[in-house]
Amino acid sequence: MTTPAAAHSFDRLPHAAPVPSATREQALANPGFGTIFTDHMVTVDYDAENGGWHGARIGPREPLSLDPACAVLHYAQEIFEGLKAYRGAQGQMTLFRPDQNARRFNASARRLAMPELPEELFIAACRELVLTDRDWFPSVEGGSLYLRPFMFATEAFLGVRPARQYSFIVIASPAGNYFKSGAPAVSIWVARDYTRAAPGGTGAAKCGGNYAASLVPTGEAFAQGHDQVLFLDAAERRWIEELGGMNLFFAFDDGSVVTPPLTGTILPGITRDSLIQLMRDEGLIVREEPYAIDQWRTDAQSGRLVETLACGTAAVVTPVGKVADRDGDFTIGSGGPGQLAQKLRARLVAIQRGEQPDPHGWVMPIG
Ligand SMILES: *Cc1c(COP(=O)(O)O)cnc(C)c1O
Repeated sequence: MTTPAAAHSFDRLPHAAPVPSATREQALANPGFGTIFTDHMVTVDYDAENGGWHGARIGPREPLSLDPACAVLHYAQEIFEGLKAYRGAQGQMTLFRPDQNARRFNASARRLAMPELPEELFIAACRELVLTDRDWFPSVEGGSLYLRPFMFATEAFLGVRPARQYSFIVIASPAGNYFKSGAPAVSIWVARDYTRAAPGGTGAAKCGGNYAASLVPTGEAFAQGHDQVLFLDAAERRWIEELGGMNLFFAFDDGSVVTPPLTGTILPGITRDSLIQLMRDEGLIVREEPYAIDQWRTDAQSGRLVETLACGTAAVVTPVGKVADRDGDFTIGSGGPGQLAQKLRARLVAIQRGEQPDPHGWVMPIG
């Protein structure tokens, strides 16, 4: 493990050809999501036999050179995170709950037999990249920098055991305001032939492998004209777990809200955690308890269920309008965005942007 001093200092490699500012400005006018990237990346290497984490540096974002026997390409030791940086009206920059991402990253690392990264190094790496690429915040209102820290096994070997060498990298992608005037309601496809995570598996780890396993049912959803796929539990195929990359909340007409519990097969979302807190601040009763697909349909049809919301860092809060399922399609409320979704989204975004007080200390100023 590195010393705290080393954890905060990054060698700076020169950039021979940063993107010209006119090209950058053009890209930033309509950045979309995840398609354009900033000039730099942070890299830190790990070698179990050579003192652990070392070589922290920031340099040009460029292609990697990997040995074809490199372990990640064969046995998928890879984990990632996703968090956003914001820039306020006066130019001050912040991260939203990066300590939670650092902690979850290490939980994922433990599950995939990978080395943990000191939390302060994770946060320092994010900060370093944002400060270096501060000119890459989108010019559109509500834009942010989406940060993608990730770690993968680099050791060249084909034996099956945890690798001894890894790289930790952070890249950044300018993100527009997903939905300018509130999120439209999405249509969900219930996966019946595939599951995402089994008890004892890697469902609670943020690893690329979980996403690979979700792509066939996601493709099915898209092919049927839906926006997202919903997974049921692997054991009984009855309990609602989550979407491919978002957690779910169910709001009832008596003011109570249910979200599936974190039993190890669901990704513990930081947006999920933040929304639970914000709802409790508002006096809503939030219960973390199992909710069955058939109950969901019955409650939607009786009107007892008034809203369903999906949440995650990228899109913040997304209302669910329609559900397509083998056992019968149904509509949530009017099929459009509900009040709770709009209110929570506005509240969370205002805290993230520093436009409203931050009673829980979630916003970290970085420069
Ligand atoms: C990242 C992720 C989420 C959302 O987590 P946030 O911390 O809120 O962004 C939910 N489900 C899955 C499967 C994820 O990978």
